[in-house]
Amino acid sequence: MADFATIRDEFPILDQQVHGHPLIYLDSAATAQKPECVIDAEADFYRTINAGVHRGAHELAARSTVAFEQARAKVARLVGANAQEGEEEIVVTGGATAGLNLLATAFGNASLGRGGEAAKRFALGPGDEIVVSQAEHHSVLLPFQELAVRAGATLRWLGLEDDGRIRVEDAGDVITERTKVVAVTHVANVTGAITDVAPLVRRAHEVGALVVLDACQSVPHIPVDFHALDVDFAAFSAHKMYGPTGVGFLYGRRELLEALPPASFGGSMVELAWMDRPAQYMDPPARFEAGTQPVAQVVAAGVAADWLRAIGMDQVAAHERAIAGELLKLGELDGVRILGPTENRERIGTVAFDVAGVHPHDVGQFVDAQGIAIRVGHHCAQPVHRHFGLFASNRASTGVYNTVDEARALVEAVSRVRGFFG
Ligand code: PLP
Repeated sequence: MADFATIRDEFPILDQQVHGHPLIYLDSAATAQKPECVIDAEADFYRTINAGVHRGAHELAARSTVAFEQARAKVARLVGANAQEGEEEIVVTGGATAGLNLLATAFGNASLGRGGEAAKRFALGPGDEIVVSQAEHHSVLLPFQELAVRAGATLRWLGLEDDGRIRVEDAGDVITERTKVVAVTHVANVTGAITDVAPLVRRAHEVGALVVLDACQSVPHIPVDFHALDVDFAAFSAHKMYGPTGVGFLYGRRELLEALPPASFGGSMVELAWMDRPAQYMDPPARFEAGTQPVAQVVAAGVAADWLRAIGMDQVAAHERAIAGELLKLGELDGVRILGPTENRERIGTVAFDVAGVHPHDVGQFVDAQGIAIRVGHHCAQPVHRHFGLFASNRASTGVYNTVDEARALVEAVSRVRGFFG
């Protein structure tokens, strides 16, 4: 059994007072705090190895390359992706947003004829359809909405149940023979709901469409295996899984990555370049990693992935579910509404809520005065807020370091909000 009290002690940032109270950090859906081993890994890289990867005949460059590729393999192992050399299925990106934009741009490049015959699967044009859901973060919605505009394709979407879960049973109607891509979230960043991915994947593959999963909020909180989920692509961010900011990863099924055209062009992704002929690009993952890579951050993200695996994702999920159970008691308070499923097994510990008659910023400041950090605003997901008839909300979200007592402290603080502002 993992000892979560000891795990909490690995996070130096949590050992501080905010406004005279011990810090209670309930904003891990925005970004997670970093354990000592991740902080050390990044600093140690700069102290001992720092050099560019894949080039240079010197010893530091060789060590840096090994560390970078080992980190890629560690991340692959966390999410059930291939890690063997020549079979890599993990591309380094600048974050989930960058990975999703990479994909949407690469799909558009297929329509331009870049990528040749093999890339035809990704080409979109008038008459084709892209399917998303109304629960998407703007980082899914906007790249694919813009792709639809550029390609002259149509954007369609799966609507939401009253409690904000994606209406998966509409898949048969919304995903049709015209659908080329289905891009959905694995766990929604407002409702915390876990999407029932299997029926969506089945339907998408039945009509020959590709599935892109936004795994930003699932990878840090529940066991994830992209092969078992049978998705084609998936994007996630290092900083939400206890790794550094500024990096993320794009999973792609190997044979699809091999056919996918590049999205950005420059150094380190090209085999042969001429003045008078089109360039010949490298095999994946290098084809998608133009420019100097954030090596220190990737190495530290690999440490974070191994650290999570050592705890065990089943244990992480069970620990956070207990805290979520306490957070869901917010819904029992007078005038407080949970925006998402109230059944704990259908969600993670990301709990958005509305306090009737009190602006989310006021709620946020009220609890902040007691040392409790939550998120307020639309959380980069305006359409899902519209579904609930709101523009903004409050959101508490858990990490491995949180405790049931911290969740209780938030519920107690929120119970006094309406009295204070009333
Ligand atoms: N998708 C979801 C569900 C998210 O929660 C986030 C971050 O808030 C993103 C995508 C974008 O991630 P990043 O900002 O790390 O690129």
